[in-house]
Amino acid sequence: MSLSPVYGILQNASMVDFPGKLAAVFFLTGCSFRCGFCHNAKLMGRAAAAGLPWTEVEKICRKFRNNWVDGAVVTGGEPTLNPGVFHVVEKLRERGFAIKLDTNGSRPQVLEKLLPLVDYVAMDVKFAPADYPERAGFGDIAALTESIRLIREQAAAYEFRTTVIEAWHDADQMRSIGEWVRGAKLHVLQAFVPRDELPDPACRAMPETRAEVLHAYADLLRPFVSCVEIRGEF
Ligand code: SF4
Repeated sequence: MSLSPVYGILQNASMVDFPGKLAAVFFLTGCSFRCGFCHNAKLMGRAAAAGLPWTEVEKICRKFRNNWVDGAVVTGGEPTLNPGVFHVVEKLRERGFAIKLDTNGSRPQVLEKLLPLVDYVAMDVKFAPADYPERAGFGDIAALTESIRLIREQAAAYEFRTTVIEAWHDADQMRSIGEWVRGAKLHVLQAFVPRDELPDPACRAMPETRAEVLHAYADLLRPFVSCVEIRGEF
Protein backbone atom coordinates (compact mmCIF):
# COMPACT_ATOMS: atom_id res chain seq x y z
CA MET A 1 0.00 0.00 0.00
CA SER A 2 1.38 3.39 -0.98
CA LEU A 3 1.44 5.81 1.96
CA SER A 4 1.08 9.58 1.60
CA PRO A 5 2.80 12.18 3.81
CA VAL A 6 -0.68 13.31 4.93
CA TYR A 7 -0.99 12.37 8.57
CA GLY A 8 -4.50 13.69 9.11
CA ILE A 9 -7.37 15.50 7.40
CA LEU A 10 -9.97 17.62 9.18
CA GLN A 11 -13.24 15.78 8.95
CA ASN A 12 -15.26 18.85 8.01
CA ALA A 13 -14.37 21.64 5.61
CA SER A 14 -13.21 24.86 7.23
CA MET A 15 -14.59 28.33 6.52
CA VAL A 16 -11.84 30.11 8.48
CA ASP A 17 -8.51 28.62 7.38
CA PHE A 18 -8.30 29.89 3.77
CA PRO A 19 -9.56 33.43 3.06
CA GLY A 20 -12.40 33.32 0.54
CA LYS A 21 -12.46 29.53 0.26
CA LEU A 22 -14.27 26.61 1.78
CA ALA A 23 -11.25 24.48 2.55
CA ALA A 24 -10.20 20.95 3.38
CA VAL A 25 -7.25 20.89 5.82
CA PHE A 26 -4.38 18.42 5.38
CA PHE A 27 -1.81 17.88 8.15
CA LEU A 28 1.79 16.81 7.60
CA THR A 29 3.97 15.72 10.51
CA GLY A 30 7.25 17.07 11.81
CA CYS A 31 8.18 20.53 13.05
CA SER A 32 11.44 22.41 13.37
CA PHE A 33 10.13 24.51 16.26
CA ARG A 34 9.25 23.69 19.84
CA CYS A 35 6.48 26.09 20.81
CA GLY A 36 5.03 25.59 24.28
CA PHE A 37 1.69 26.93 23.02
CA CYS A 38 1.43 24.53 20.06
CA HIS A 39 -2.12 23.42 19.30
CA ASN A 40 -0.81 20.61 17.09
CA ALA A 41 1.70 19.20 19.57
CA LYS A 42 1.11 15.64 18.39
CA LEU A 43 2.57 16.68 15.04
CA MET A 44 5.64 18.36 16.52
CA GLY A 45 8.03 15.39 16.37
CA ARG A 46 11.01 16.26 14.22
CA ALA A 47 10.70 13.12 12.10
CA ALA A 48 8.38 13.40 9.13
CA ALA A 49 6.25 10.28 9.62
CA ALA A 50 4.35 8.42 6.91
CA GLY A 51 0.64 8.95 6.94
CA LEU A 52 -2.63 7.86 5.34
CA PRO A 53 -2.72 5.62 2.27
CA TRP A 54 -2.97 7.64 -0.95
CA THR A 55 -6.19 5.79 -1.81
CA GLU A 56 -7.76 7.17 1.38
CA VAL A 57 -6.52 10.71 0.63
CA GLU A 58 -7.93 10.48 -2.92
CA LYS A 59 -11.29 9.26 -1.60
CA ILE A 60 -11.54 12.13 0.88
CA CYS A 61 -10.52 14.64 -1.82
CA ARG A 62 -13.31 13.38 -4.08
CA LYS A 63 -15.82 13.69 -1.25
CA PHE A 64 -14.78 17.29 -0.55
CA ARG A 65 -14.81 18.28 -4.22
CA ASN A 66 -18.30 16.80 -4.61
CA ASN A 67 -19.38 19.03 -1.73
CA TRP A 68 -18.20 22.32 -3.24
CA VAL A 69 -14.96 22.51 -1.28
CA ASP A 70 -12.67 24.60 -3.47
CA GLY A 71 -9.63 25.14 -1.24
CA ALA A 72 -7.02 22.92 0.38
CA VAL A 73 -4.81 23.97 3.29
CA VAL A 74 -1.49 22.16 3.62
CA THR A 75 -0.39 22.58 7.22
CA GLY A 76 1.49 20.91 10.06
CA GLY A 77 3.68 20.73 11.95
CA GLU A 78 5.84 22.35 9.33
CA PRO A 79 4.95 21.04 5.85
CA THR A 80 8.21 22.15 4.19
CA LEU A 81 10.14 19.60 6.29
CA ASN A 82 8.52 16.75 4.41
CA PRO A 83 9.89 16.09 0.90
CA GLY A 84 6.47 14.64 0.06
CA VAL A 85 4.87 18.08 0.33
CA PHE A 86 5.43 18.61 -3.42
CA HIS A 87 3.55 15.44 -4.25
CA VAL A 88 0.69 16.45 -1.95
CA VAL A 89 0.43 19.88 -3.58
CA GLU A 90 0.51 18.33 -7.05
CA LYS A 91 -2.25 15.82 -6.18
CA LEU A 92 -4.45 18.52 -4.67
CA ARG A 93 -3.95 20.71 -7.72
CA GLU A 94 -4.94 17.84 -9.99
CA ARG A 95 -8.14 17.53 -7.99
CA GLY A 96 -8.90 21.19 -8.70
CA PHE A 97 -8.26 22.71 -5.28
CA ALA A 98 -6.76 26.14 -4.79
CA ILE A 99 -3.89 25.63 -2.34
CA LYS A 100 -2.90 27.47 0.80
CA LEU A 101 0.39 26.64 2.52
CA ASP A 102 0.93 27.28 6.23
CA THR A 103 4.57 27.64 7.24
CA ASN A 104 6.76 28.72 10.12
CA GLY A 105 9.29 30.07 7.61
CA SER A 106 12.17 27.86 8.72
CA ARG A 107 13.00 26.43 5.27
CA PRO A 108 13.23 29.21 2.68
CA GLN A 109 14.94 26.94 0.12
CA VAL A 110 11.88 24.68 0.03
CA LEU A 111 9.45 27.56 0.33
CA GLU A 112 10.92 29.22 -2.76
CA LYS A 113 10.15 26.11 -4.82
CA LEU A 114 6.64 25.83 -3.42
CA LEU A 115 5.65 29.46 -3.93
CA PRO A 116 4.85 29.11 -7.67
CA LEU A 117 2.70 26.06 -6.90
CA VAL A 118 0.41 27.53 -4.25
CA ASP A 119 -2.22 30.25 -4.28
CA TYR A 120 -1.84 31.58 -0.75
CA VAL A 121 0.83 31.42 1.95
CA ALA A 122 0.41 32.10 5.66
CA MET A 123 3.65 32.48 7.59
CA ASP A 124 3.72 32.71 11.35
CA VAL A 125 5.85 35.59 12.59
CA LYS A 126 5.59 34.48 16.15
CA PHE A 127 7.92 36.83 17.99
CA ALA A 128 10.50 39.54 17.56
CA PRO A 129 13.63 37.88 16.12
CA ALA A 130 15.54 37.89 19.42
CA ASP A 131 12.81 35.91 21.18
CA TYR A 132 12.69 32.96 18.78
CA PRO A 133 15.39 30.81 20.40
CA GLU A 134 13.82 30.93 23.84
CA ARG A 135 10.14 30.87 22.88
CA ALA A 136 10.17 28.64 19.78
CA GLY A 137 13.42 26.70 20.18
CA PHE A 138 14.64 27.94 16.79
CA GLY A 139 17.59 30.26 16.21
CA ASP A 140 18.13 30.55 12.44
CA ILE A 141 16.78 34.07 12.16
CA ALA A 142 18.39 34.55 8.74
CA ALA A 143 16.21 31.73 7.39
CA LEU A 144 13.06 33.40 8.73
CA THR A 145 14.12 36.76 7.30
CA GLU A 146 14.66 35.15 3.91
CA SER A 147 11.24 33.49 4.03
CA ILE A 148 9.61 36.84 4.82
CA ARG A 149 11.41 38.38 1.84
CA LEU A 150 10.44 35.56 -0.52
CA ILE A 151 6.80 35.69 0.49
CA ARG A 152 6.61 39.48 0.26
CA GLU A 153 8.19 39.46 -3.21
CA GLN A 154 6.94 36.25 -4.80
CA ALA A 155 3.76 34.88 -3.21
CA ALA A 156 0.56 35.17 -5.24
CA ALA A 157 -1.28 36.11 -2.03
CA TYR A 158 -0.19 35.90 1.57
CA GLU A 159 -0.46 36.87 5.18
CA PHE A 160 1.95 37.07 8.06
CA ARG A 161 0.35 36.27 11.37
CA THR A 162 1.10 36.54 15.06
CA THR A 163 -0.71 34.83 17.89
CA VAL A 164 -0.50 37.41 20.66
CA ILE A 165 0.35 36.07 24.11
CA GLU A 166 0.00 38.86 26.63
CA ALA A 167 2.72 37.54 28.95
CA TRP A 168 5.25 37.36 26.12
CA HIS A 169 4.43 40.15 23.64
CA ASP A 170 4.82 43.81 24.48
CA ALA A 171 4.72 47.01 22.46
CA ASP A 172 8.46 46.98 21.68
CA GLN A 173 8.26 43.43 20.40
CA MET A 174 5.28 44.28 18.20
CA ARG A 175 7.21 47.19 16.70
CA SER A 176 10.14 44.88 16.11
CA ILE A 177 7.81 42.44 14.32
CA GLY A 178 6.49 45.36 12.29
CA GLU A 179 10.03 46.32 11.23
CA TRP A 180 10.69 42.71 10.25
CA VAL A 181 7.69 42.44 7.90
CA ARG A 182 7.77 46.08 6.80
CA GLY A 183 6.01 46.60 3.44
CA ALA A 184 3.84 43.48 3.77
CA LYS A 185 0.30 43.52 2.37
CA LEU A 186 -1.39 41.85 5.32
CA HIS A 187 -0.54 41.06 8.92
CA VAL A 188 -3.04 39.11 11.00
CA LEU A 189 -3.18 39.19 14.79
CA GLN A 190 -4.97 36.41 16.55
CA ALA A 191 -5.87 35.69 20.13
CA PHE A 192 -4.02 33.08 22.14
CA VAL A 193 -6.52 30.64 23.62
CA PRO A 194 -5.27 28.35 26.43
CA ARG A 195 -5.99 24.64 26.14
CA ASP A 196 -5.35 21.75 28.51
CA GLU A 197 -3.32 19.85 25.91
CA LEU A 198 -0.69 22.57 25.29
CA PRO A 199 2.84 21.16 25.76
CA ASP A 200 4.06 23.86 28.19
CA PRO A 201 2.12 23.80 31.49
CA ALA A 202 2.85 27.51 31.92
CA CYS A 203 1.03 28.20 28.63
CA ARG A 204 -1.99 26.18 29.75
CA ALA A 205 -2.40 28.60 32.64
CA MET A 206 -2.06 31.80 30.59
CA PRO A 207 -5.22 33.86 29.95
CA GLU A 208 -6.88 34.29 26.58
CA THR A 209 -5.68 37.45 24.84
CA ARG A 210 -7.96 40.40 25.49
CA ALA A 211 -9.59 42.16 22.54
CA GLU A 212 -8.28 45.56 23.64
CA VAL A 213 -4.70 44.27 23.55
CA LEU A 214 -5.16 42.95 20.02
CA HIS A 215 -6.57 46.29 18.91
CA ALA A 216 -3.74 48.23 20.55
CA TYR A 217 -1.11 46.04 18.86
CA ALA A 218 -2.93 46.31 15.53
CA ASP A 219 -2.54 50.10 15.81
CA LEU A 220 1.20 49.64 16.46
CA LEU A 221 1.60 47.48 13.35
CA ARG A 222 -0.38 49.69 10.96
CA PRO A 223 2.51 52.06 10.09
CA PHE A 224 4.54 49.08 8.84
CA VAL A 225 2.09 47.16 6.64
CA SER A 226 -0.77 47.87 4.22
CA CYS A 227 -3.45 46.09 6.24
CA VAL A 228 -3.81 44.60 9.73
CA GLU A 229 -6.61 42.19 10.55
CA ILE A 230 -7.65 40.77 13.89
CA ARG A 231 -8.93 37.23 14.08
CA GLY A 232 -10.05 35.55 17.25
CA GLU A 233 -12.86 34.10 19.24
CA PHE A 234 -14.77 37.27 20.12
S1 SF4 B 1 5.68 26.09 14.55
FE1 SF4 B 1 3.50 25.59 14.74
S2 SF4 B 1 3.38 23.35 14.61
FE2 SF4 B 1 5.53 23.88 15.02
S3 SF4 B 1 5.72 23.75 17.26
FE3 SF4 B 1 5.27 25.88 16.75
S4 SF4 B 1 3.03 26.08 16.88
FE4 SF4 B 1 3.53 23.87 16.77
